Amino acid sequence: MPFPERLIEQIRQRTDLVELVSEVVPLKRVGKNYAGLCPFHAEDTPSFYVHPDWGIFKCFGCGKGGNAITFVMEYYRMSFPEAVRFLAERAGIELPEEPTEERELSHTQQLYRALQAAARLYHSLLFSPAGTTAYRYALGRGLSEQTLRQFQLGYAPNAWDTVLTELRRQGFSEALLLEAGLLVRSEQGTLYDRFRDRLIFPIHDTVGRVVGFGARRLREEEPTPKYINSPATPLYDKSKLLYGLYHARHALRSSGYALLVEGYMDALALHQAGLDTAVATAGTALSRDQLRLLRRYCQQLFVVYDADSAGQQATLRALELALAEGFDVRIVVLPAGEDPASFLQSQGKEAFLMRLRSAVPFLEFVLLEYQRRGALDTPEGQVQAVRHAVRLIATIPDRLLHEFLLRRLAARFALPESLLYAELQAVGANQSSTASPSPPPRPSTEAAAPTPSPLKELLTEEREILRALLLQPHLRHQLQPGEPESVLLSERARQLWQLIQELTQRYAEPVLTIAADPQLQQSTEGQLLLELAIVQQSPSPRWLEYVQEFRELDWGAVLRENLLRLRLRGIEQRLQQLRAAQAQAQSWVQQQQLLHQIQELLDERLRCQQQLEHR
Ligand SMILES: [Zn+2]
Repeated sequence: MPFPERLIEQIRQRTDLVELVSEVVPLKRVGKNYAGLCPFHAEDTPSFYVHPDWGIFKCFGCGKGGNAITFVMEYYRMSFPEAVRFLAERAGIELPEEPTEERELSHTQQLYRALQAAARLYHSLLFSPAGTTAYRYALGRGLSEQTLRQFQLGYAPNAWDTVLTELRRQGFSEALLLEAGLLVRSEQGTLYDRFRDRLIFPIHDTVGRVVGFGARRLREEEPTPKYINSPATPLYDKSKLLYGLYHARHALRSSGYALLVEGYMDALALHQAGLDTAVATAGTALSRDQLRLLRRYCQQLFVVYDADSAGQQATLRALELALAEGFDVRIVVLPAGEDPASFLQSQGKEAFLMRLRSAVPFLEFVLLEYQRRGALDTPEGQVQAVRHAVRLIATIPDRLLHEFLLRRLAARFALPESLLYAELQAVGANQSSTASPSPPPRPSTEAAAPTPSPLKELLTEEREILRALLLQPHLRHQLQPGEPESVLLSERARQLWQLIQELTQRYAEPVLTIAADPQLQQSTEGQLLLELAIVQQSPSPRWLEYVQEFRELDWGAVLRENLLRLRLRGIEQRLQQLRAAQAQAQSWVQQQQLLHQIQELLDERLRCQQQLEHR
């Protein structure tokens, strides 16, 4: 084990699991737990639970569960050491030593390392004499030195082998550098640097790892493309990344809106001006994947495009996707020939904020486009525009909005609302019958078929008894001899009790042990116990009172009450059996024996009932 136990414990204590999970799915408080839509499988109703005090999570849909480290491993597809390092960094805990030999790292880790090393190299070169031209260029475009450092901009020198030589010296293989997209193989088979004499923009994933680069040429007269990007690699898929998202992530969450721009320079200019919710779709048309990624952070989308590109069909179609993903989309149009960076530079931040405040809702923008093209001058054109608008409204997931938008549309074209309703219904029916329904807006990594949990076989009382004994192992000292076996009614409950006993003898805190141990966790029993630990609802109104009156649940009371209730259930079952037997009994002696047993049970039932009432 490369990390000391103490470190893992420290990470666990300092990591707020609710906060960690909230970065990828919104959570809502439910009793002592938090619930939300599972990030590991597609679902419409929340079955993903987080227990804040225990620092564990559990999905009742797909069964995934664990602690902060396993969450990071699963969600961000990291290895155990990577996840530990990631969380330690997040919690401000210093790691003992820079660990592990290069060969121990997974192939993916090595790719990340190569990209990180390249980013460092480019960055240092930007501030070296070799990078003077690039540095001056960046400053000339209005970027400050602080921005260059914050976003780790760099310079790829005008040579064929800068990265090749330096990273090979650092121990990276040529094959790896090629796979990372840093090198190109010529037709003759020789390898050379992909990026040469360019300003480098490292592209980060949502957790801040460099996954690729954008690169801008420095000399306008060069006959090469203005921008080039990393090719598709195992880590870099440009349609699934947004430039600036990593740096914008906190601001996006707190403000609830994003400023979507087209280029690296635009995103940087906005961040530098303090508009730090800017993200860019560098080098690609806005994709559904990008929208879903962004939707995890915010709900409002300001699209800042220049007058030429905003009205283009490709842009409009992309924004229709945004509407369907549940974004409130607004368009900020800049004067022709201006991009956000140049606009900020020439007009200043106040002017930009003015534009932002007068942003046009997307639906309105579409109609304005019809108007601009002169299409609203004819009845046919008007019909086309109205149909288009209704079709867009139909894609909006929030049905409540449909009514408001339709009303506005009806007023605008002086049409009866009922007519538009009919149209909307026609469109809706059409969409649901012919087109494939749009998949839920969630990162469904794999579709795990939810299986009914074996815990459903348990009686509520059994479940609560086992849960109390699992979470509060010391309560077993309060049990009477023979309990709880003597009262447990189902076979499954007895099996689980066996397991809980074994675990509590071995570990002081069994639940935390399960959550931290991937092997235990993946075993059927581990899954069951974890599920048991996170209660989905309070089984009786009485316990809800306990929770509200006392900050902590009185586990002893829960245990005693459920033991009694379960004992009562057992008595009822036994009584039924005896009465049935009595009805069948042949001899008088048999009758008397049964009657005697029934009387004893009735007495015991009374005692139990009294105890339950006097508690
Ligand atoms: Zn799930």
